[in-house]
Amino acid sequence: MTVVQHWIAGQSTTGESTRTARVFNPATGVQAREVLLADDAEVSAAVAAALAAFPGWAETSLTRRTQVIFAFRELVRRDAAVLARMISDEHGKVLSDALGEVQRGLEVVEFACGMPSLLKGSYSDQVSTGVDTFSFREPLGVCAGITPFNFPAMVPLWMFPIAIATGNTFILKPSERVPSAAVHLAKLWKEAGLPDGVFNVVHGDRPAVDALLDSPDVAAVSFVGSTPVARYIHERASAQGKRVQALGGAKNHAVVLPDADRGFAADHLVAAAYGSAGERCMAVSAAVAIGSAADALVEAVAERARKIRVGPGTDTGSEMGPVVTAQARDRINRLIGSGAEQGADLVVDGRGIVVEGHEDGFFVGPTLIDGVRTDMEVYREEIFGPVLSVVRTDNLSDAIDLINANPYGNGTALFTSSGAAARRFQRGVHVGMIGINVPVPVPLAFYSFGGWKHSLFGDRHVHGAEGVSFYTRAKVVTSRWPGALAGPTGSGASFDFPNSD
Ligand code: NAD
Repeated sequence: MTVVQHWIAGQSTTGESTRTARVFNPATGVQAREVLLADDAEVSAAVAAALAAFPGWAETSLTRRTQVIFAFRELVRRDAAVLARMISDEHGKVLSDALGEVQRGLEVVEFACGMPSLLKGSYSDQVSTGVDTFSFREPLGVCAGITPFNFPAMVPLWMFPIAIATGNTFILKPSERVPSAAVHLAKLWKEAGLPDGVFNVVHGDRPAVDALLDSPDVAAVSFVGSTPVARYIHERASAQGKRVQALGGAKNHAVVLPDADRGFAADHLVAAAYGSAGERCMAVSAAVAIGSAADALVEAVAERARKIRVGPGTDTGSEMGPVVTAQARDRINRLIGSGAEQGADLVVDGRGIVVEGHEDGFFVGPTLIDGVRTDMEVYREEIFGPVLSVVRTDNLSDAIDLINANPYGNGTALFTSSGAAARRFQRGVHVGMIGINVPVPVPLAFYSFGGWKHSLFGDRHVHGAEGVSFYTRAKVVTSRWPGALAGPTGSGASFDFPNSD
C-alpha cells in the first residue's frame, strides 16, 4: 500500500505522527493508498522551513522569481495527464474533466507569470514642493492554504502560484481524501528551481489545520471548503490577527424564463447539475422554472438526465463518475429519499444505480426532483451530488427574492432571450458570480473568484487582482531630498498640518 507523505523543505518526509487516513478509489470502492496525518510536530517543521525560506525568496528579484513560475508552468503542462489520472483515481471525476481542472489551475499560473506587471506600484511626482510619493507592495511571509476534496489541483492552484510569485512562502494542507496531486505539484516546483522550503505540503485533518491557524508564524490563511468549516477558520485565524479568506459552500440557482431557448437551457442545466457528479461549488443544484416554461423544461431535462453515461472516471465512455466516498453516497441517497418523503416528485431517481464491473463503487445516478419547496431538506442542504431540484415560481421578481432569501451567494445563472430581464437579474441578485445564458459562470484567472453571504468569509476573493492584493501589503513612501532643490530650501519645520504647497 502506497503511503502518501508530507513534503517539507524540498523533500518527502514521514514525520513523527503515526496517524493515517485511508484514500479510496471511488470507482472501485477499494482503498488505494494511505495518507499520513500531521500533528503539531509536522506542522511546526513545515512552518519552520517556510519561515527560514522566506527572507531569501522575498529578496529574490522579481525577474528571477518569475522565471521559476514560467518553468513551473511548463512542467504542469508536461504532466497535465499524470495529474489528471491522479485526480480521477482519488476523486472519481472523468479524465476529461480532471484535465479541465488542471487547465483552469494552469491559467492561474499563467496569470502569476505576469506578476512584474501586476506588482507595479504608483509614483506621484512633486506632491508638494520637493516632495514625491510612491507606493509598492510587499509579501506577507508564510501563507497557508487549506483545500477541499473536489478540486485536488485547481483549488490549490488558485492560491499558491500568486502567493509564491509575490514573494511569500506557502504551506498547503490538501484534503486528506485526495492527497496525491498536491505532492506531485510540490515535486514540479522543485524541478522548476524553486528553493527548498518555499512550498510545503502537510497532510492532515483538524489537528493539522488548528496547528496552522494557531501558529504565530503563519501570516495569512486561504481556505476553500464547506461553510461550517469556513466560518470556523475565519473566526479562529482572524482572532489571532491573521489575514483570512475562507470560501464556503453553495446552493446555486439557475432561473429559466419562458422566453429562453428550452433545448439550450436543458442541455446546459444537465451539464451544470451532473458534471463532476455535482461535486462542484458552482454546480447548479436548483433550477427555478418560471411560469409556462416549467413542465416542458422538466421533461427536457429528465430526458437528457436518463441518457447520461455513468461509469468509472478513467473509462473514456463515461460522462459522469462516482461520488467521493461511501459516506457521501449514503448521505446523498438519504437526502433524495427525504425529498420524496416531504412531498416532492422524484422524476429521475439515481439511487441504487449499479455500474457493471464496478458494483462496489460509490455511484449515484443523475437525479431530478420536481415540485421542491424551500422548506424541504433537499433545498435547504447543500447536497453536493448529482441532484437537481426544480422550484417553480410565477415571475422573475419572485425568483430573485427566492435567491436572495437563500443563505448562500456563490453563483447563479439566468436563461433568457431578454436583455431587460438579464439586466434586472444581474443587478438584483445578492450573489458573487452571475451567468447570463452561462450556467457555471466561473471567472477566469485574471478576474477574481468568490461568493457572497455564507459562501465567503473575509473580504477578498481568490486569484485575479484580489488574489494579488490578498498576498501582499502596501507601503506608501513620501520622500524629500533637500539637496536636490534648486534655490533656497527654506528653513524650519512647521508645527501645523501643511497647507497646499
Ligand atoms: P470540508 O469543509 O469538509 O473540508 C475542507 C478542508 O477543511 C479539508 O482540507 C479538510 O481536511 C479540512 N477540514 C474538514 N473539517 C475540518 C474541521 N472540523 N476543522 C478544521 N479543518 C477541517 O469540505 P470538502 O467536503 O472537502 O469540500 C466540499 C465543500 O467545499 C462543499 O461545501 C463545497 O461547496 C465547498 N467548496 C467551495 C468552493 C468555493 O469556491 N466556494 C470551492 C470548492 C468547494
